[in-house]
Amino acid sequence: MKTPICEMCLHSDTLCPECKEKVNSGKVTACDIRIARNLFSISREVKDLDNVEIIKCMESPNLIVVICKEGDAGKIVGSNGIIVKKLASILQKQIRVVEEPKDKEDMIKKLLHPVPVLGINILYTPHGEMLKVIIPKNKRPPASDEHMSDIMKKIYDQDMVVVPEE
Ligand SMILES: [Zn+2]
Repeated sequence: MKTPICEMCLHSDTLCPECKEKVNSGKVTACDIRIARNLFSISREVKDLDNVEIIKCMESPNLIVVICKEGDAGKIVGSNGIIVKKLASILQKQIRVVEEPKDKEDMIKKLLHPVPVLGINILYTPHGEMLKVIIPKNKRPPASDEHMSDIMKKIYDQDMVVVPEE
């Protein structure tokens, strides 16, 4: 399993000097470490997790987005969502697993999956640009607007609002 911290640090409660340096420079966050270590401990029972790669984890007050290598999301979610459910109950937050996005639009689509994105517009507000994501009238976004927006702000420095089509 590949994660933002090294394999040795997955096994231990402390960090090696190299991983500590990544934390100090902000490259690796507490959330990255929590997700990596918890997934690692689950991987002792779930063989499918052996070869997955966690690239980055993003956290808002109620949501953690795990960004993984392309092709790995299904393994991290687990059959019937068993692994994300486990993670969610350990970390007390909703978990979304997203394969590494190609760009901002791709990230939005993956974040909202399985809800289809019908359009993305830019709104100009007094506080700056905001992405307006349009979804079908009868669908509900998979996570709260506010928390998905929080994640988008962290990655792309842009707020986001999800609205149903008119
Ligand atoms: Zn390390």
